[in-house]
Amino acid sequence: MSAPGLDCEVLVVGAGPAGSAVAAALAADGRDVLMVEARAHPRPKACAEYASPRIVEELRRLGLPEAGWQRDALPLAGMRVIRGRDAVDVRYRDAVGPRSAWGLDRLIFDTALAAHATASGARLVEHAAFDEPVWTDGRVSGAIVSTPEGATTIRSRWLVGADGARSRVANRLGVERPVIAPRRLGMVAHYEADPELADHGEMHVGPGWYVGLAPLAGGRLNVGMALPMEKVRRSAKEQFQAAIEGIPAVAARLAGRRRLTPITGASPIGHRVGRAAGPGWLLVGDAAGFIDPFTGEGIYRALRSARAAAESLARSDDDVEDRYLAARRHAFAAKDALTWLVQGMLVSPPLMGYALRRLASRPATALRLGSALGDCRPASDALSPFFLAQVLRP
Ligand SMILES: Cc1cc2nc3c(=O)[nH]c(=O)nc-3n(C[C@H](O)[C@H](O)[C@H](O)COP(=O)(O)OP(=O)(O)OC[C@H]3O[C@@H](n4cnc5c(N)ncnc54)[C@H](O)[C@@H]3O)c2cc1C
Repeated sequence: MSAPGLDCEVLVVGAGPAGSAVAAALAADGRDVLMVEARAHPRPKACAEYASPRIVEELRRLGLPEAGWQRDALPLAGMRVIRGRDAVDVRYRDAVGPRSAWGLDRLIFDTALAAHATASGARLVEHAAFDEPVWTDGRVSGAIVSTPEGATTIRSRWLVGADGARSRVANRLGVERPVIAPRRLGMVAHYEADPELADHGEMHVGPGWYVGLAPLAGGRLNVGMALPMEKVRRSAKEQFQAAIEGIPAVAARLAGRRRLTPITGASPIGHRVGRAAGPGWLLVGDAAGFIDPFTGEGIYRALRSARAAAESLARSDDDVEDRYLAARRHAFAAKDALTWLVQGMLVSPPLMGYALRRLASRPATALRLGSALGDCRPASDALSPFFLAQVLRP
């Protein structure tokens, strides 16, 4: 069945932060945008809910009223990264001064952003899942979408895959690649808040895995973890509990505090693609690749890649693909290298411990690294040999 009423200029698959952001930007620019979302908002998303300071600028560009989203979010000074007795405070500063990270309730935040996209003029059809791309003369020209009424063909000039880390769009376009490392399980749940963690979070690092504690508004604490894939299968709840008990400082923080939500997540984290754009299609957010949440920038990255996509689509139809790929390289290449450097330390506990001890005694160096991780200064600043020598010299 085809649905001419749903035909559009830009078909966005997925109404998470990336999809809603690209839809809001394009619709505000007068483009005819349709979003299809497999579920319906408010929908849960496994996330540690600790967002980079720079989401503020991205949301401001989209015209999302600050008072609205910040009412349900908690400003946080940063994260204390702890491994055994070693600890360092990750803080953020840009040219203007200190910056806050944000504890974001994804149920509320994602719903608000999708509503903003529709208020900006995009159409949203929920319970509509992308199945297959439609091709015309070697170019994507729409998609087959499943709805409760059956499968329907939607024609579009552009297809934007914003369907997250299990992206079916990437898979069906043939650009999905196997994730080699890191292979971890991600799980999260909300607990009652710890009053000692009112203005910052904690990241407790085990050997190759970690547990994050991120405060949220409304007296809640997000307990999120990325664990090694096990050969022996235990239930998510058993693994979650074992991880808490495996780090005494985490067990102490959570002792006597009630878990308020079910444990969600538990699928392998990570997604890799060979290419993020092609004739008639672009991938944004996690659909275009996702490494691991340790450095906590997935939400920012979703918004930033949505901006790159919207800007590339805003000009002539020629060279959209090249413009977008170049914009992604400019925005993410150095940050990806920094993220891989941090991942390398994560799988080498002695190196991680050494770096944490050095950073703890060098606050200016720690601030520079934190600011680069929080996108408050160029990631390349934290990659220079001079900077790395500052971190690692005895
Ligand atoms: C355990 C864990 C912890 C994390 N912690 C953090 C953190 O603390 N901070 C941070 O910034 N990031 C974190 N992230 C990453 C962050 O959640 C993602 O980077 C972010 O959600 C990406 O947004 P997105 O819009 O690309 O994808 P998503 O938020 O996944 O949205 C994709 C949307 O597409 C829809 N969809 C899927 N398939 C289809 C289909 N076939 N058809 C139509 N719709 C479809 C989904 O229902 C969903 O609504 C974490 C991730 C994990 C797994």
